[in-house]
Amino acid sequence: MRFDTKAVHAGVTPDPSTGAIMTPIFQTSTYVQQSPGNHKGFEYSRTQNPTRFALQDSIAALENARYGLVFGSGLAAIDAVIKLLKPGDEVISANDLYGGTYRIFTKVFENFGIKFHFIGMEDVANIENYVNDNTKLIWLETPTNPMMNIVDIKGAAAIAKKHNIILGVDNTFASPALQNPMDLGADIVMHSVTKYLGGHSDVVMGALAMNSDVLYQRLAFIQNSCGAVAGPQDCFLVLRGIKTLHLRMQRHCENGEKVARYLAEHPKVNKVYWPGFESHPNHAIAKEQMRGFGGMISFTFHEDDMQQSFRVMERFKVFALAESLGGVESMANHPATMTHGAIPREERMKVGLLDSLIRLSVGIEDADDLIADLEQAIG
Ligand SMILES: *Cc1c(COP(=O)(O)O)cnc(C)c1O
Repeated sequence: MRFDTKAVHAGVTPDPSTGAIMTPIFQTSTYVQQSPGNHKGFEYSRTQNPTRFALQDSIAALENARYGLVFGSGLAAIDAVIKLLKPGDEVISANDLYGGTYRIFTKVFENFGIKFHFIGMEDVANIENYVNDNTKLIWLETPTNPMMNIVDIKGAAAIAKKHNIILGVDNTFASPALQNPMDLGADIVMHSVTKYLGGHSDVVMGALAMNSDVLYQRLAFIQNSCGAVAGPQDCFLVLRGIKTLHLRMQRHCENGEKVARYLAEHPKVNKVYWPGFESHPNHAIAKEQMRGFGGMISFTFHEDDMQQSFRVMERFKVFALAESLGGVESMANHPATMTHGAIPREERMKVGLLDSLIRLSVGIEDADDLIADLEQAIG
């Protein structure tokens, strides 16, 4: 099946008891057994839930993976991946990361004796400089949040394979509609389902997808043992959201391109970060590994003045000033004080995350209304 058909159908089969076309919300904690151990494969909802299973199958299909697992949030999914490791193990992570990912790595897991190297991955050859016998995981995002850098997934996978290291890719920004890291050699694909997969700003959830039986068994064990599962109501909402993922992403890409090109021409705007520009340093890789450039855009002003950016964001009428992204609604965010507030200023500055930088999640509204909103807000 091709992607658009999978988005509508994968994971969902008519309910055997009624024929209901939509998977019911199995809002139950437990399942009645005939005699101890004599049951239909369902014992307790932390371990098995049909609504969650349908969503897990759907996400696996979208990522061309054999297995999917969903968690209470994107960070809970990352938490599960790091729990594959033990004290003394090392992780090579991209240095341009979602702030919460940086926080769980440095503030939670460093305390457990896991060592993280945060490095530039615009040239993946740099990864090799940090590989040693303790390296167990390479972790990256592409496009990155919020600098919209592109990392060569195939190149990173070749290094991971060579040294027998697990490669995990946070595919939140692209969504499976635009990029499938498994096809490029990743071992684990992670999503903040909260964003494009849910798509309607009404759910917080995370997901992992993988092909290896061993990884699946270990991660499913962690999911059940640590217990950060997603609830059936939320799984239902995401099953519904996914049915329009391909259509939404098409419009996110179209609107994103219009907004990026508008900003690039604006006299007050300094830099616009969007992988669709031919001048983007890794544009060629983006073109090769993505089917579209998405709706995420960051930009700065000529003067790195936080107050000027605040004034612009306060004037928005259509863009909502909010954390998060990937919803049908356009959103603006100030990473330095909001999503990336956990990253020390000097670390931010190193990757170009300036005080004036505004990140846009371009929604699926009429592009002319979005541009008019930017026009009146930037002035
Ligand atoms: C939001 C986000 C996360 C964290 O996901 P939650 O669902 O908020 O826990 C991780 N990575 C990226 C790229 C994100 O945008």
